[in-house]
This record gives sequence, C-alpha cells and structure tokens, in this order.
Amino acid sequence: MKCVVTGAAGFIGSHLCERLLESGHEVTGIDCFVPYYPKPFKERNLTGLKPRPHFRFLSADLRTDSLAEATDGAEVIYHLAAMPGLEKSWTDFDGYQSCNVTATQRLLEAVRKSPSLKRFVYGSTSSVYGKFASGDETMPTRPVSPYGVTKLAGEHLAKAYLDTFGTPVVALRFFSVYGPRQRPDMAYNIFIRALLTGEPITIFGDGEQVRGNTFVLDCASAVMAAAEAKIGEIYNVGGGEAVSIREVLAKLERISGKRFTVNHQAARAGDQKSTLADTTKLRTELNWEPKTPLDAGLKAQFEWQANGG
Ligand code: NAD
Repeated sequence: MKCVVTGAAGFIGSHLCERLLESGHEVTGIDCFVPYYPKPFKERNLTGLKPRPHFRFLSADLRTDSLAEATDGAEVIYHLAAMPGLEKSWTDFDGYQSCNVTATQRLLEAVRKSPSLKRFVYGSTSSVYGKFASGDETMPTRPVSPYGVTKLAGEHLAKAYLDTFGTPVVALRFFSVYGPRQRPDMAYNIFIRALLTGEPITIFGDGEQVRGNTFVLDCASAVMAAAEAKIGEIYNVGGGEAVSIREVLAKLERISGKRFTVNHQAARAGDQKSTLADTTKLRTELNWEPKTPLDAGLKAQFEWQANGG
C-alpha cells in the first residue's frame, strides 16, 4: 500500500516507517524537524530509512507547505507529527496549537477529496484523558495541559471531517511509549542518561506515579493494525505492565549495575497521577498483543543509549 507517515523523523514515526517498509509497503515520510529537540537526533532516526528503495523523505512543514504532492495517491495516512510533551506546552502555546491543530486541519483538508484514501490514522495520546487515565476509551476526556487540549482538538477535527466529508479516520491514544530512539526529554531517556553519566536525577512528586508503558515496536504494530480498523473508532494503545517510577528506577539499576542519585521536587502542573490503558478493544477488534515485556524493553533502550543513542 502507499502510505504517508507524518513525523517520520521522530521517535515513533521512524520506527513505524521501518515496520511498514519491512511489511512491503511504499512509504512517504514527512517531517520538518521542529526544534523541540535537536535536529541531529532526528536525522539519525532517518539514517536507516533514507537509502531504502521504497522510502522517500519530504522535508515539509504541515503548517505551511503544500501537501498535494506528498499525499497524492496515498492509501493510508499515519499522522504522528506533533509537538509532544506536556511541560513546554504551557510556554509555547502557538507552537502546540499550530503543529497539533493547524497542521492536522491542513492534512485533513489535503486528503478530503482523495479517491484513494482508505484510512487516516491519527496518533493521539492518553493526555486527552487528564489526571487519571486508567481505563478504557469511554473514560471522560478532561485534559489538564495545553498539549492534551491541542491533541484532543486534533481528534475532534478528524471526527468533524469524518462526519462532514466521510474522511476515513481512526484515532489511537498512546500511553507512555519507550524504547530505542525515545525522545531525549522523556523520563526513561533522562534516567538512563543519568545512570550513564553519573548525574543525579530529579523525581517530581512521590515517585509513586504509575505508568502503563508501551514498547515502541508494540506501538508501531498497533498503528499499522489501525489501517484495518473500523472507521470512526478510537483505541487505547498501551503495553499493559503498569509500574511506578520507583519500580522503573529499581529495574534500571538492575539492568545497568549502577545506582541513581535522586533529588525530590514537588509534582508538576498537569502531570498525570496514573495512566494504564485498558486495551481490550484493540486486542479484541484488531487482534493486537504487546509482545515486549518491560524488562526486555528497558534493556533494549538502555543498550541503545549506552551505545551512543
Ligand atoms: P517526536 O517529537 O519524536 O516526533 C514528532 C515529529 O513530528 C518530530 O520529528 C517533529 O519534527 C515532527 N513535526 C512536528 N510538527 C511538524 C510539522 N508542523 N510539520 C512536519 N513535521 C512536524 O514525538 P513522538 O514521541 O515520536 O510522538 C509521535 C506522536 O505520538 C505525536 O503525535 C505525539 O503526540 C504522540 N504520542 C507520543 C507519546 C510518547 O510516549 N512518545 C505518547 C502519547 C502520544
């Protein structure tokens, strides 16, 4: 199939492109290297992709550039481009609004009349639920950060295009994705970096925050499965093994053979207390199963970072 992946130079997007190519699809990857984290990280994510014969990369900004050529003939659009992360969304609202809402609207508009489009898969987030995000897709959406608000707005826009023009949208709400190429601002990347350099880490709150972690390849396989999903549906994507921050630190100490130096600070505004996806819908409707246990996934990320990732 002819696929378009937005955010192709990012953490999840680059893995998705690789999996799609391995499955025999033709992939156009789009990214504009927003400086949320440094461009060299993203260029490195693309190194294995660029030489592949069925991959083409377009450096384009979804907010401003023409999307006609990129989307022409596309059968599945995987829309993962976004400004991620909660914290910066309080201080760069324009960036979040434009990359998460305007960009989504322009992409939906670009494919609105496409005769070839079979699915438009929107990569959303558990942050749309708000402080308590443990349950299934019927949980109320009450985001507590501008990031969550803009991602939920993207979901609503996609739904508006479905209801008005029949755009074949499906939304996936990702829960804390980790693994090789994880963004440098994300907690596990920071923890592992600290273990490798001997720097202290800061834990916000009591360390008892619970996360349902999703290994990046399990996330990518859920995204691919969504190409077959019923139009208009929303699915939680989560690995199922919930652990507290304290437990993750203990696991990483075991994997690395090193000890953390921990500083404690008050919980941050907008942080979620607990996130654990109920993924029954994804498992039963799309036959998806997470395959990577947390220990193995953390080891893979540790090794990637230890080898210069
Ligand atoms: P990432 O920052 O690594 O990847 C996103 C990519 O999108 C970046 O490379 C960025 O340059 C690109 N991008 C942003 N705005 C763009 C624009 N206007 N035009 C073109 N490209 C643009 O982030 P990620 O962690 O891989 O996240 C991917 C998606 O998954 C995002 O939509 C995010 O909201 C969602 N998500 C991620 C997680 C997680 O744990 N990583 C959790 C929930 C949801």
